[in-house]
Amino acid sequence: MQGLTPAPIDFAWLVFPFRTAEGWGLVDTGFSDPAMAERFKLTEFTPPARLLERLGVRPEEITDLILTHGHWDHAGDLAAFPRARVWMSQAELEDMRLRLSDESWVDGYRREDLEQLDKVEAAGRLRLIKGTTTVRPGVEVVVMGGHTAGCLAVRLGKTVLATDNAYLFRNLSERRPIGKAARLGGEDALSRLLEMGPSLIPGHDPELIRRYPSVAEDVVKLP
Ligand SMILES: [Zn+2]
Repeated sequence: MQGLTPAPIDFAWLVFPFRTAEGWGLVDTGFSDPAMAERFKLTEFTPPARLLERLGVRPEEITDLILTHGHWDHAGDLAAFPRARVWMSQAELEDMRLRLSDESWVDGYRREDLEQLDKVEAAGRLRLIKGTTTVRPGVEVVVMGGHTAGCLAVRLGKTVLATDNAYLFRNLSERRPIGKAARLGGEDALSRLLEMGPSLIPGHDPELIRRYPSVAEDVVKLP
């Protein structure tokens, strides 16, 4: 009998800046460590702060930063945004603390990112979320769980960022939760997402770059 080898999937690492009357905000920091880009074999890599520069935005202008969850590729560059209030789920932070209590790397969580979160908390900039919360008018976060203990979905106007409860458009169209989340209530998170509206944006799909209009190199405008 022959084993099946899954075809490699094209993956993009993304952050989502947004602007409202209150100024600029950002969903996820991404990461800036080139060693991580190398470790995960990225073929192209631009640190998110550099991508923001292409929009004419300085990191200090980000005043609300929403962390969808604590994984290194989403929370890996907190120090780059020194003025931002940081919004994340309390359940996520508690789980992150627990898992990192005797390890420095576990399942995508890194001790160094937790240490940065401790600094944000000490500076009075941390905002912990327990349920659906309005960050600003038109910007709402919903605690979904699924992918991680307190993974968020983010509603930006009519658009809903599914983040890592759906890596790709295929996860949404085929109602297929990503593997890791299946045992953590991922199916439930996915069906709740599908009820959140027609304009769902997956968390890691390179198709986003092709599908939406470019406004700068490697930067597209979502609906
Ligand atoms: Zn993740």
